[in-house]
Amino acid sequence: MYDIGIIGGGTAGMTAAIYGQRAGKRTIIIEGSTFGGQITSSPNVENYPGIASVSGSEFSMNLLDQAMKLGAETVTEQVTGIRDEGGVKVIETTGKEYPCRSIILATGVTHRHLGVPNEERLTGSGVSYCATCDGAFFRGRDVAVVGGGSTALQDAEFLSNYCRKVYLIHRRDEFRGENRIVKRLEEKENVEFVLNCTVREIIGDSSVERIIVNNKKTGKEYKLEVSGVFIAVGQIPRNEIFADAVKLDENGFILAAEDCVTSHPGIFAAGDCRTKEVRQLTTAAADGAVAALAACKFVVD
Ligand code: NAP
Repeated sequence: MYDIGIIGGGTAGMTAAIYGQRAGKRTIIIEGSTFGGQITSSPNVENYPGIASVSGSEFSMNLLDQAMKLGAETVTEQVTGIRDEGGVKVIETTGKEYPCRSIILATGVTHRHLGVPNEERLTGSGVSYCATCDGAFFRGRDVAVVGGGSTALQDAEFLSNYCRKVYLIHRRDEFRGENRIVKRLEEKENVEFVLNCTVREIIGDSSVERIIVNNKKTGKEYKLEVSGVFIAVGQIPRNEIFADAVKLDENGFILAAEDCVTSHPGIFAAGDCRTKEVRQLTTAAADGAVAALAACKFVVD
């Protein structure tokens, strides 16, 4: 029996494990794919207090190492559901069941898709949701980045180091992401801002050949000849499998305030998967600590 079962091995989940282990609790993190979560795709993290600059993958590997050295157990399995058997909470995965005294849901979010023609078909053949993972395949070629948040800005900056030309397509004329990066991009000769525009269609037989872009102000449409489209239009939660156990809001985020307490006693929610205003690395880490300490209190009471 585990004191704290943590679902999700991103920043929130791993921070929760660190706090749980340090409080002497038996902790397990169950992760469906890669430990580290979203931040592993970030080429450079520059806004985590005390660390001026670190790659997302190094940051998350350090977190995992820290949690494991403290004794946190880790498994890579797909969680299929959770249930409460009158005090004992059970995490169900594809192959096993993990009985726990408390559960922390730290499932993060996943990439939002544009929903335009050929996006799904050409994913992996020019359409990508991770510039850090796939950028090197586009060395010397022309690519587009879609989005106006920090991820899109970072992706454009990263790709500008490899690609001949980077079009940064945003649906408004003001970016949501960090102004500091916008300024750096403005100085890059191979980066072109395509503002007030949306992608209407991605075109290509076996791989991306071009995209059709629509200018929302003028109504005009034009083609951009690109071999890669990096989509960074935000994140959506995937909490449907927990909907019977905890209350979700209308967008699918787990209803929980800053105390990380959900509608179900003994089940806590930490990080980007819960209802909150600010989704940052720092707030994910903060949630991990808050949820773990609340879980520690729950299992003792
Ligand atoms: P985000 O901040 O939600 O930005 C999403 C962007 O995509 C927005 O500019 C939005 O436009 C645009 N968008 C949404 N749906 C669209 C659609 N259907 N078509 C076209 N454009 C669309 O997402 P994010 O950049 O992935 O960032 C998520 C969170 O992670 C943020 O809190 C961010 O600060 C954080 N982050 C932190 C770091 C770091 O290094 N610490 C790095 C990356 C991200 P509008 O602006 O018009 O809404």
